[in-house]
Amino acid sequence: MILENIKQVQKNIAEACLRVGRNPEEVTLIAVSKTKPVSDIQEALKSDILDYGENKVQELAEKYDCLPKNIRWHMIGHLQRNKVKYLVGKTCLIHSVDSVRLAEQIEKEFAKKDLTADVLIEVNMAKEESKFGITAGETEDLIRSISVFPHIRIRGLMTIAPYTDNPETNRVFFRNMKKLSVDISSKNIDNVSMDVLSMGMTGDYQVAVEEGATLVRVGTGIFGERNYNI
Ligand SMILES: *Cc1c(COP(=O)(O)O)cnc(C)c1O
Repeated sequence: MILENIKQVQKNIAEACLRVGRNPEEVTLIAVSKTKPVSDIQEALKSDILDYGENKVQELAEKYDCLPKNIRWHMIGHLQRNKVKYLVGKTCLIHSVDSVRLAEQIEKEFAKKDLTADVLIEVNMAKEESKFGITAGETEDLIRSISVFPHIRIRGLMTIAPYTDNPETNRVFFRNMKKLSVDISSKNIDNVSMDVLSMGMTGDYQVAVEEGATLVRVGTGIFGERNYNI
C-alpha cells in the first residue's frame, strides 16, 4: 500500500507541475513518517524517496540511529530550544524557525560541532491562533536578524495552511507565500537564499505545487491515518 500511495502522490505532483508549466524535478516529496514505525519507512525506502519528515526531536533521533544514513531527515514540527542539541548532525533542514531566540540556540549548538544548520522560517500565512510561525509582515525583520549567525543558512520559507476539505481555499495562502519569498529574495540579504518553499500537505499539496512549492510534506497520503493513542 505504501509504495502504491507514493506512486500516486508522485503522479499527482507531476500532473500539477504540468498544469502550470513547472519541471517536476523542482519539487521534492517529503514522506512525513511521524508516529509511524521504522518498518513503514523501510517499506517506503524501496521507492526512490530519501526525504522523511518528523515533528518530534526524540523520534527523529531514534529513527536516525536505526535507519540508513543516506536518509535526509526534515524537522517539521515546533522546536523547543532545549531539544536543539539532539538534532545536530541528524537533520538536513529545520523547517520551523520562528524566533531569534530559537535561532540563537541553533547557532550555539551547531557551532560546537562546527556544522551549519540549513533552516526555513515558518510563516503563519493564515494567521491561525493555534499555529506557530510569524506573520508575513514580521518575516523580513526576523530574517535580517537571523542572517548574521555564521552557523545558520536561511534557505527559504515554510507554512502550514489550515486544515480544509477544499484545497482551493488554501490557494491564496500559498500564492501569498510565494510572493513573500520573491519579495524577500529581491532584497538580496547576505547569507539568505529563498530557493525553498515548503508548503502543501495531504489535503492540499497539488494546489501548493501549482503555486510554487519546492517541498511538499505528505504523511497520511503515503502512510495512512495516524493513531495518536498508542
Ligand atoms: C503532520 C504534518 C504533515 C503531514 O500531514 P498530512 O496531512 O498527514 O499529510 C505536514 N507538515 C507538518 C508540519 C506536519 O506536522
